[in-house]
Amino acid sequence: MYLFKEIARLQEALEQEKTAGRRIGFVPTMGALHEGHLSLIRAAKAATDVVVCSIFVNPTQFNDPKDFEKYPVTIKEDILKLTGGGTNILFLPSVAEMYPEGVNGRQPHYDFGYLETVLEGAHRPNHFQGVGIIVHKLLQAVQPDDLFMGQKDFQQCMIIKRLLEITQIPSKLHICPTLREKDGLAMSSRNMRLDPAARQIATRISQALGYVKENIRSLPFNIIKENASKQLQDAGYQVDYIEIADASDLQLLKEPVDRNMVVLAAAKLGEVRLIDNMIIASPGHAGS
Ligand code: AMP
Repeated sequence: MYLFKEIARLQEALEQEKTAGRRIGFVPTMGALHEGHLSLIRAAKAATDVVVCSIFVNPTQFNDPKDFEKYPVTIKEDILKLTGGGTNILFLPSVAEMYPEGVNGRQPHYDFGYLETVLEGAHRPNHFQGVGIIVHKLLQAVQPDDLFMGQKDFQQCMIIKRLLEITQIPSKLHICPTLREKDGLAMSSRNMRLDPAARQIATRISQALGYVKENIRSLPFNIIKENASKQLQDAGYQVDYIEIADASDLQLLKEPVDRNMVVLAAAKLGEVRLIDNMIIASPGHAGS
């Protein structure tokens, strides 16, 4: 695996691959890698010839400075995992490399419309602008044929789909399924910050989503959401939201529709904020 810290060096190497007709796959991450990330690397390996992974903890997408400061950094372990997973290139830029204009410098503003006003958008002001800024910069640097992202960040995937439309970047977005621990907890770098007691309770978030999924056609939505929210609160969570939405556009729903739906939740256990979602396939559609 090659490691580049500068965009110019990365692009020199990629130019050779592209000239040789090789397909470039890209997996952007913030590091503290786990099996979920590695499943994206595997998907990229299966579909492309050269797999580029980036590790960059992007300051402009953290609305909570404490969350940024405490974001886990495990770069040595990450390098071993990426090498083991067959990654070809690791891009590991500094903040100055990605933000030569400074993190408070002038940035584009993306019109994500409705998508930015609900759920994560409503609870994390400017988060998706920060995501847009960094993914746009990374896509300009790598110019991949294929981009791999996780359904774990469902709303983020929709934002990136929109970003690709806005910027007319021709990379193909692949959305990969959420990998979970044995007890159902969605894998996340932030799970490392859970103490043993919190780790035990953490599984309740996927259980609450499972409860919604099971009862989606038998109980009114307000009752299901109230019950699921109470389950989380009783377990010690501070709930940001638990919502049922149309999986195609994230419009919040009050009753079942005959299309794929998605149930999404965000809740805090102490200082650690967890998010998760599950697709509820309409009969005849695939989902997870
Ligand atoms: P992050 O490092 O958290 O920014 O995540 C980098 C990429 O990995 C994003 O596209 C995430 O959606 C994806 N990802 C994170 N957790 C999981 C998971 N449990 N399963 C699949 N993909 C994931």
